Amino acid sequence: MLRTEAENGRADIRTRDRIDTGPRFAEADAVRLNRLFRGSDTSEMLETLIKERMAGEVAIVSSFGAESAVLLHLIAQVDPAVPVLFLETGKHFPETLAYRDLLIAQLGLRDLRNLVPDEAEIAKKDENGLRWSWDPDGCCEIRKVKPLAKALAGFDASFSGRKSFQAATRSSLPRFEIDTTDTQGRLKINPLIDWSPERIAAYIEEHHLPAHPLVAEGYPSIGCMPCTSKVAAGEDPRSGRWKGWDKTECGIHVPGQEDVAGGTGNGELPPGFDPVF
Ligand code: SF4
Repeated sequence: MLRTEAENGRADIRTRDRIDTGPRFAEADAVRLNRLFRGSDTSEMLETLIKERMAGEVAIVSSFGAESAVLLHLIAQVDPAVPVLFLETGKHFPETLAYRDLLIAQLGLRDLRNLVPDEAEIAKKDENGLRWSWDPDGCCEIRKVKPLAKALAGFDASFSGRKSFQAATRSSLPRFEIDTTDTQGRLKINPLIDWSPERIAAYIEEHHLPAHPLVAEGYPSIGCMPCTSKVAAGEDPRSGRWKGWDKTECGIHVPGQEDVAGGTGNGELPPGFDPVF
């Protein structure tokens, strides 16, 4: 029986996922998935990916920031049991923690996992909790990069809420890429990468999603409290992150993908740095 190109692509990806003993996915798989879902509606893509288990065991990494509700809602519509990973750095705004709890309850998400830093490492490397003020890369490494790496080791793919309009460093990211933070060959999926601010706003309105309380106070991109500043109208939404530092990402995403993803382009971040939040 003849199969469509899409069916061939899906079968091929599922087969590789199950029989490979090396990295779960390779660059060719990401390319194939980008082709397979080119032009597909976001909801349709998520439904196919999750229900057909095309990406294996998946989790969503969420900062519960300004626009996090959109991806969380889209995924909750397909499967509210998808694990939601939140980096509980201990440095969040109280408003973010309250917003996290509100969204989880409202969307019916059933598997929130708060990832906390290793206590012994915090005691050794950030005893007074001020490392962010003199070494933000080191602080992100302890509080975000390592806890997330540990948690993601059990998954085949992760969803990120990154959008291309958020910053120049994200302008050409694809929907599917390989997570190069380690050699496991996990997929990193950016379902909203081509969404515009207007589309995000319209989706939030259509589905009556609650807003992060700090957005109305001038924070279009929200991360840890010490590293988030207000942004003036017309500025890059992420310019309020690590203001005054030559740092644009927290280290959860990785550069070295400049050819396919645009990369950070500034050459200043340490190896393994590009991120989610
Ligand atoms: S964003 Fe700031 S406070 Fe949060 S982990 Fe990174 S450096 Fe530390």
